[in-house]
Amino acid sequence: MTDPMTTDAPIPLLATAPECVHCGFCLPACPTYDVLGTEMDSPRGRLALMSALESGDLAPTRAAVGHLDACLGCRACETACPSGVPYGERLEATRATLHDSPLRDRRAAQASRWIRAAVTAPAWMQRLGAGGQRVLRAVGVDRLAERWAARHPDTHLGAALSLWSAGSHWAAQRPSPAPGTTFAPSGPRRMRVALHLGCMQRWMFGGVHRDTIDVLTALGCEVVVPVGQGCCGALAAHEGAADEARGWMRHNLDAYERAGPFDALVVNAAGCGSSLADAARLFDDDATRERAVALGSRVRDVLDLVAELGPLPHARWTHRTQRVAYHDACHLAHAQGVRAAPRRVLEGLPGLELVALAEADRCCGSAGIYNVTQPATALAVLEGKLERLAALDIDVVAAGNPGCLLQLEAGARRAGHTWRLAHPIELVAGRLR
Ligand code: SF4
Ligand code: SF4
Repeated sequence: MTDPMTTDAPIPLLATAPECVHCGFCLPACPTYDVLGTEMDSPRGRLALMSALESGDLAPTRAAVGHLDACLGCRACETACPSGVPYGERLEATRATLHDSPLRDRRAAQASRWIRAAVTAPAWMQRLGAGGQRVLRAVGVDRLAERWAARHPDTHLGAALSLWSAGSHWAAQRPSPAPGTTFAPSGPRRMRVALHLGCMQRWMFGGVHRDTIDVLTALGCEVVVPVGQGCCGALAAHEGAADEARGWMRHNLDAYERAGPFDALVVNAAGCGSSLADAARLFDDDATRERAVALGSRVRDVLDLVAELGPLPHARWTHRTQRVAYHDACHLAHAQGVRAAPRRVLEGLPGLELVALAEADRCCGSAGIYNVTQPATALAVLEGKLERLAALDIDVVAAGNPGCLLQLEAGARRAGHTWRLAHPIELVAGRLR
């Protein structure tokens, strides 16, 4: 019989980490507890499951693994927990022990593998894919796909197709800069920064990278795009593919060390930023941990850096005031503690009114590729976010993470909302042009 606890090399856990005291303060913060309503789908219940699996008191079962896989990994429970339980680390470590277990949902695992393979494919394959996507769009296949997906949003394929077609307007923007390129500051140099391109962000959100470069160079940064960088490994780590995540991170450590000295590693995708900032979590040997800590300490979310370097020189007014709601990506708010800086930057832009969104830091259901692996629960989580947005009179919804942008765009289209979805840096760059 196959051992259900198959394994990647373990993700080390801090021996001194605080334990759960079962107080339940995290329960109201948990989106899956909210929509699924069972203790085993709450942070407290999942921590109890993880402890029981770890100690051997509980043998893995399909049900136990299902409760753990139903977690978004949004880490809202960490923000709410007064004891400081490092829930995210515990989850990643436990999923690594279950990676490839036959007890996991086979289709979800397959979908996850395919998506990871697609978004991390070599550049020439991605160029080919982008060309194919343009052809399919030109002949209207994306509209057909969207219509089919709208009728089957709670299937793996329906979810993947609706996200693919939601991304079409970003994919049609300027392409990502080529690795190896350097962009000079427009005035005296204040900083030298490296830009992380990511995987999905690199091929679908090239315009966001270009806007990042335009804003940072206007603020006096020399921006380098290091050669050899790759995926941050977050998608793999969330799924428990720890060896794959470690492989990507080693690749990045080499690439960013070769890029020479820089003051900050700028990231414009919340999930990648959180993964790179906390790169050391993946390693247990001192030498690699030291390198990972050095890299992680220089990670800066782009809006956080813009808030420090701003205000923008020569920002111009738009024709009419844009009313903008800001959605906190979980891996910015809960994992990196970046909340005030993006709001400060947006509030400072001419012609923009920031409209307060209730429960702005509650997950939208994207959570890496959770919306494809667990489509029904992701839709239920998204519903609350869309209702709170629909209560506002807004033109734009801004979010600093590609997954949130695709999830919210797909949901807004299905529900017939006309908000424009935008990364905050797109709104900043729009004031430069
Ligand atoms: S990470 Fe999010 S979904 Fe998972 S237990 Fe914590 S709050 Fe709930
Ligand atoms: S995770 Fe933290 S907040 Fe939640 S029950 Fe345990 S100790 Fe309390």
